Amino acid sequence: MLPIALGLSLILAEPDAPVKKSPIAATVVSLLPTSGDHIRQYAFDGDDATTYTTDKPPAEGDSVTLTFDEPVLVRSVSIKGRGLDGGTLEGSTDGQAFESLTGVHDGTGNAEPKKSLKAVRFVPAKDAKEPLQIAEISVDSDPAVHRFAFPVEFVVDEVDDPELKPWADKAARECEKSYDLINEALKSDGYTPARVVHLSIKNGIDVPAYASGSRITGSAKWFKDHPGDVGAMIHESTHVVQRYRGRRNPGWLVEGVADYVRFVLYEPANIGRLNVNTARHDQSYRVTARFLDYVSRKYDKDFVLKLNKAMREGKYSEDLFKESTGKALADLGTEWKDSLTPQ
Ligand SMILES: [Zn+2]
Repeated sequence: MLPIALGLSLILAEPDAPVKKSPIAATVVSLLPTSGDHIRQYAFDGDDATTYTTDKPPAEGDSVTLTFDEPVLVRSVSIKGRGLDGGTLEGSTDGQAFESLTGVHDGTGNAEPKKSLKAVRFVPAKDAKEPLQIAEISVDSDPAVHRFAFPVEFVVDEVDDPELKPWADKAARECEKSYDLINEALKSDGYTPARVVHLSIKNGIDVPAYASGSRITGSAKWFKDHPGDVGAMIHESTHVVQRYRGRRNPGWLVEGVADYVRFVLYEPANIGRLNVNTARHDQSYRVTARFLDYVSRKYDKDFVLKLNKAMREGKYSEDLFKESTGKALADLGTEWKDSLTPQ
């Protein structure tokens, strides 16, 4: 009975409300090395002025593939750029087997497949002699596919354990896909995050992973033992995006923001249990992440944006909590702790 009653009440409440579908995330993959900072995601960022450029002409078997997290009904798809003539725009219903949608001539190709597709790809002409320059792949679909608002490329450099290379590649694609989520949470005026992030997996690292500038280094042993811990790389990617300055930023807040992005926004199901007896707002990592979530929900949905901006600009002080909530940090911490119920 319950689902029917629930459905009915929704219909009665909003008879004309359109069904809202969230945009579907996408990954853009190519085996061709990128030329400088003309990164792959520029092929799908909604901006014709930015171009994905390969550092050499394609060879047999090369392609550039845009894969959707879920199949979408593609009304039309087009590609434009240079060095593409004679190539083919292809579509796939399952992400595995592709069939031709249209050829590319005079730098453009347009198709109206009007069917459900899991991926589209560009296959260069066999005799292509120029590097590829893809200005844009455009997809008109239902639901829409999310274009990259903060384009980035994670370049896998050294992987000490060859067995971990596929894992590193997978983590890199996941971080690329999640970069918009991180940057939407931590955007501030005048700030452009790193466009290229380097990722290495090394032996002899005594923490799971760490970030320095736009380089992330992971422990081979850790990720071999914990292959499901891709979220640790989201945490480190958040540090790359934070790029905080100054010495006034408390470490517990720096880590708290990184775990807020990871455990509140990216993978809330994995935040784990909280020990309410020992919990402190300044306990760092995921405990502080919960505290920041509380402040955001109860007082100011933009609190983390403001906190991040202040820390990025070297202007953090505890007053920030008072400005957003009317309460001193210590009192807020006590209030949060009192609100916790044993789990
Ligand atoms: Zn950290």
